[in-house]
Amino acid sequence: MNLITINNMKLVFATHNPNKFKEIQALLPHYIELLSLDDIGCTEDIAETADTIEGNAILKAEYVRHRYGYDVFADDTGLEVDALDGAPGVYSARYAGEEKNDAANRKKLLTELDGKENRTARFKTVIAINLEDHENLFTGICEGMITNEQRGENGFGYDPVFQPKGFDKTFAEMELSQKSELSHRAKAFRELISYLSK
Ligand code: IMP
Repeated sequence: MNLITINNMKLVFATHNPNKFKEIQALLPHYIELLSLDDIGCTEDIAETADTIEGNAILKAEYVRHRYGYDVFADDTGLEVDALDGAPGVYSARYAGEEKNDAANRKKLLTELDGKENRTARFKTVIAINLEDHENLFTGICEGMITNEQRGENGFGYDPVFQPKGFDKTFAEMELSQKSELSHRAKAFRELISYLSK
């Protein structure tokens, strides 16, 4: 398929998260009709069984491609902490257990880093896009450090313990607009949008 000649294109974003969906929908070029998993009748949770962030993004995109036949993209994000040899990484959502509890994940992270001097870390988002079985990956990275205690009320996940490099606020102390400028996810999605806009 030649992207330059596309007038109208249906594309699935493989997420069940309506906030993520709306955010991306607003940024895509007008000739792309973005569909959610619900729109295509995919109500099941797609198991994230790969052992890398890239692998999970690819797995989710391929699942939709093969079962539903649509062009699709999927994202996966992890927090890599240097003093923990890259953990929690691909297991970020389930760091403190299968129930995906953000507060418990943050508490475990601070406990694991207790007394450690090296607090450097990064968020990494990978987007896998599958267009007629041709696959492409886009990566966005945000470098920073893990704070000694939780600060801020905004955001979600590890935001209260992650301070991006060059800033004295955690993501949870920033307005959403500021986080959206510099976040890992924003960087990866900017790459995707530039690819789709060509
Ligand atoms: P997902 O791949 O977007 O579901 O993210 C996996 C896990 O990483 C989530 O459960 C969150 O705990 C964490 N996470 C992802 N993005 C962010 C973020 O922007 N801030 C804080 N935590 C995040």
